[in-house]
Amino acid sequence: MEANIGELISEDRGFALITGASRGIGRAIALHLADDGYDVAFCYRQDLEAARQVEAEALSRGRYVFHQPCDVADFQAVQAFVKACEEHFGTLEVLVNCAGIIRDNPLVLMGKEDWQSVMDTNLSGCFHFCRSAVFGFLKRKRGVIVNISSVSGVYGNPRQSNYSAAKAGIIGFSKSLAKELAPYNIRVNVVAPGYIQTDMTASVSPKVLEKVLQSIPMGRIGEPEDVAELVSFLVSNRAKYITGQTFQVDGGITL
Ligand code: NDP
Repeated sequence: MEANIGELISEDRGFALITGASRGIGRAIALHLADDGYDVAFCYRQDLEAARQVEAEALSRGRYVFHQPCDVADFQAVQAFVKACEEHFGTLEVLVNCAGIIRDNPLVLMGKEDWQSVMDTNLSGCFHFCRSAVFGFLKRKRGVIVNISSVSGVYGNPRQSNYSAAKAGIIGFSKSLAKELAPYNIRVNVVAPGYIQTDMTASVSPKVLEKVLQSIPMGRIGEPEDVAELVSFLVSNRAKYITGQTFQVDGGITL
């Protein structure tokens, strides 16, 4: 679909940047924020075809889209990507750190590489984007950040010591950042999903899935849209007095 950039870029609203939005939860967040009226920039690792589908869907909602592959673990690449987004759109207003990976294993079998790649992507990736965005937020005294953690980062999970550590790190990082940035009208919150239906959880065996379902009081796996709805609220002005908090979207799995 042809997009007329001049018509589509909002004059009074900055754009939203979502990491890891070619698929899954990030994709749902990008499209929800497009519905909310944001122009949308996003990155991913490699799945260009999936990214193009997200682009087409956001364009069909009347928003302008900018996307590029960018490894969130690579600080230089992230800095260049954020700069490219700002050159395209102008003012970054909303940052959602969603890119994440799992490399599950019991600790006795966990290789250093599985530890490091999970930390680099999930935790350092979040630092890289916040670090790259925050100077502009401070200058403008305006900006919102939502970092995607996991209930695994709040409560822990067997075979996920690397992932739990990274996701718990995101919560501590975000609390500090929230305190540091609140005087500058910048809010930082965390969303910790439970079990959500995406490619990340698609490989789970029917036996394990059955067990998971039994542990969810609401009796169903979450949809990416369940998470996107909360992110949409948190970045909006409706949440203007909320910062430094962690919100679970988990169907009650942790009750
Ligand atoms: P998916 O595996 O479905 O999608 C992951 C997305 O992140 C893809 O767009 C992928 O890009 C991108 N990505 C992965 N690594 C990188 C990287 N190094 N640089 C840039 N982009 C990257 O994951 P989900 O949608 O399920 O998960 C999204 C977030 O939610 C993650 O942080 C995850 O930990 C968290 N979460 C998920 C839960 C679930 O049950 N699904 C539960 C709790 C938290 P590409 O397509 O190119 O690979």
